[in-house]
Amino acid sequence: MAQMSILKIVGRSLFSKPVTRRFPFVKRDAYPATRGHVAIEIGKCIFCSICAKKCPTDAIVVAKPDRNWSIDRLRCIACGACVDACPKKCLAMANSYAPAAIEKKSDLFHQETPAAPVETKPAG
Ligand code: SF4
Ligand code: SF4
Repeated sequence: MAQMSILKIVGRSLFSKPVTRRFPFVKRDAYPATRGHVAIEIGKCIFCSICAKKCPTDAIVVAKPDRNWSIDRLRCIACGACVDACPKKCLAMANSYAPAAIEKKSDLFHQETPAAPVETKPAG
């Protein structure tokens, strides 16, 4: 009986398309709700470190003197806490997965020039 079921599966598989994709040549489309990976607009960052403090896995390291922001994507659990906490709205959950890592290192983002101060109008 079990052999019959197996033969049925084998027969079906012989005449159907493969269920796998030829990654990386054929990529899976992300669902609209896919959190994907954390993306940063480094030009808007003020290096306040709030994102690093909110991160439950210590995936983010902020170095204000060097104007560096880095993320260890192997630690990140895509919870979105850093995105919600950023006061400058320079973080977002991008709707695509980060490229596969071949070595254990953080993604480093460096800001060349300091973020422009936000213009404020005098009250009254
Ligand atoms: S919370 Fe936003 S502005 Fe502050 S360091 Fe993180 S990314 Fe930069
Ligand atoms: S998404 Fe969550 S785990 Fe990933 S860096 Fe942001 S706070 Fe940390």
